[in-house]
Amino acid sequence: MARIGVFVCWCGSNIAKTVDVERVAAEAGRIPGVVHAADYKYMCSQPGQAMLREAIAQHRLDRVVVAACSPRLHETTFRNCVAAAGLNPFMAEIANIREHCSWVHGDRAVATRKALDLTRMAVARSRRNEPLVQTEIPVTKRALVIGGGIAGIQAALDIAGAGYPVTLVERAPSIGGRMAQYDKTFPTLDCAACILTPKMVECASNPNIKIVTYAEVEGVSGYVGNFEVTIRRRARSVDLEKCTGCGICYEKCPVKVPSEFDGGLGMRKAIYVPFPQAVPNVPVIDREHCTYYLRGKCRLCEKFCTIGAVRFDEEDEVFTEKVGAIVTATGFDVWDQSAAGEYGAGQYPDVISGLQFERLANASGPTAGRIVRPSDHTEPKTVVFVACVGSRDPAHGHPYCSKVCCMYTAKHALLLKEKVPDAKAYIFYMDIRANGKGYEEFVQRVVERYDATYVRGRVSRIYPLDGHLVVQGADTLLGRPVEVRADMVVLATAMEPRADAKDMARRLGLSTDQDHWFTEAHPKLRPVEVLTSGVYLAGACHYPKDIPDTVAQASGAAAKVADLFAKPHLLSEPMIAVVDDATCAACLLCREVCPFTAIEAAEITDPATRKPRTVARVNAGLCHGCGTCVAACRSASMRLRGFGDDQILLQIEALGHAHGL
Ligand SMILES: Cc1cc2nc3c(=O)[nH]c(=O)nc-3n(C[C@H](O)[C@H](O)[C@H](O)COP(=O)(O)OP(=O)(O)OC[C@H]3O[C@@H](n4cnc5c(N)ncnc54)[C@H](O)[C@@H]3O)c2cc1C
Repeated sequence: MARIGVFVCWCGSNIAKTVDVERVAAEAGRIPGVVHAADYKYMCSQPGQAMLREAIAQHRLDRVVVAACSPRLHETTFRNCVAAAGLNPFMAEIANIREHCSWVHGDRAVATRKALDLTRMAVARSRRNEPLVQTEIPVTKRALVIGGGIAGIQAALDIAGAGYPVTLVERAPSIGGRMAQYDKTFPTLDCAACILTPKMVECASNPNIKIVTYAEVEGVSGYVGNFEVTIRRRARSVDLEKCTGCGICYEKCPVKVPSEFDGGLGMRKAIYVPFPQAVPNVPVIDREHCTYYLRGKCRLCEKFCTIGAVRFDEEDEVFTEKVGAIVTATGFDVWDQSAAGEYGAGQYPDVISGLQFERLANASGPTAGRIVRPSDHTEPKTVVFVACVGSRDPAHGHPYCSKVCCMYTAKHALLLKEKVPDAKAYIFYMDIRANGKGYEEFVQRVVERYDATYVRGRVSRIYPLDGHLVVQGADTLLGRPVEVRADMVVLATAMEPRADAKDMARRLGLSTDQDHWFTEAHPKLRPVEVLTSGVYLAGACHYPKDIPDTVAQASGAAAKVADLFAKPHLLSEPMIAVVDDATCAACLLCREVCPFTAIEAAEITDPATRKPRTVARVNAGLCHGCGTCVAACRSASMRLRGFGDDQILLQIEALGHAHGL
């Protein structure tokens, strides 16, 4: 006969305000098999857990039901707690009387009745709980970091610093990400290159870090501790080992195309290094524009390269690596506002984006740091900055705040004034969100010392007139229309997920939110993990972030990886699907529906006939115990350990019994 203990949590007032917890505990104590029932203010707290452990010993409990919050939050806490008291951790059962009950009901009597029902059902289910054992899985102690922006660089350096090898895969020809495009960074106005490029160089010289640029991850298989990744390194057409970075090839190249790195404000050659501090500082040939690849002629770069580093015949290289953990740090895109046509972006050359302004202000940018109008290269004397362009705007698919625009717009106003002292900045804004360390003070400084005029309101129209841009809008604080005759307009366009975020998510088994940002495992308690074990998030691929938050999250992800690698082996999740070979007909519908590709066909020798036969087989490392295969199996050959049909039927019976059915 089972000896069950029931522990009902108040969760402060979260549960107790709506549920009569004392009554639930008293009535639970009368359920057959329950030998002890108690309630407590915070079961998850140290005294709460101590109380639970003592009760296990004192009442010789062999099963425990905790009626509290969602198992997502504290199932592990209570499993660890019962394990500390000597029970198998899977003998702890949770009844969710917070999210499923107190938070969604207003009527105390109804909520109390439901809490009792949920508790009864958990007690019924716990009768069939079986001790489950975790098996050991080996760990490959090498990490993969995808994306070489500041997030990926920081994560790679930290993992390498902890003593583990890292492969850092970057899609662009150089690592550095967006930060490499900036002149100065708010709020400290550090020179971006001065704080970023030493880290890039450190990455390149760290023996624990292998940088693979101009490359992408094409496929990922396996599971935590044992991933196999397929990487495609695109043909660079220049030998990374031989090239000395002398630059003669791009000097001689006759083809000029707009530079992506400069936001189209400057030109680059068909063979180019994206920016002077690039790592690796080796050119790449853009095959879409190179005359040789287009028309079979030219080869000037090859002719002038005295060491023979140009390799027109180079082909993409595809290779696999085994890694134990993956950090996703693929960053963000900036909304192409010209597609929407508002504010004249893409139509009027002097309406530019914040990223383009960064390039104008940058000493190694297309104008060597001179802020000039793209149309005629004259210095603008009046510049209108428009914040929230596309952000907080469901109509344009970005209901969220891009978080950094208020700050970089203030930075831009400051840079304008420093570089063109007689210029005047107007900033149209919705609200000023300056919620980082030193941020509010930074904005105040820009208003007070740099004479920026903040206009609270939206811009309704921008049109050219006599070589200027007329910006019309409304000042919603003063309640009157505003018109500014500007020389240049800078749009703080929304940050958005990478165009291939969905595809990336599918490859890595990540989920995305309604706006397509990658989703963390828990917004408060597991902000760098995702639901696929062994995969972590860093930086702006998760949500718009500034550099300090990006770096903090990257270090957090690296710490998680180091923690994983510090273990001699991992323990597999025992609540997984298992196949009954005797009845499995190998229809493999389970394989089709499995969202984690955890099911394969396997050949066995049928014990009855002694003949070979195919059955479905579950990979314990990949299975997440979601139960999809169990529901799909037509012959009921799939069973979820710890979640059997018999347990679910007992739960239903207990509910029916309580209601006289
Ligand atoms: C105009 C502007 C100005 C800003 N100024 C500041 C500032 O002054 N201070 C501040 O704190 N923040 C600022 N920010 C925010 C800052 O840019 C971000 O916090 C930071 O860039 C986030 O870094 P990240 O590494 O996550 O992303 P990114 O910088 O976007 O880097 C991601 C990297 O991943 C690579 N990548 C993408 N997809 C793949 C793939 N599939 N495979 C391999 N590699 C891939 C990309 O090529 C890129 O190198 C500004 C933002 C903008 C738009």
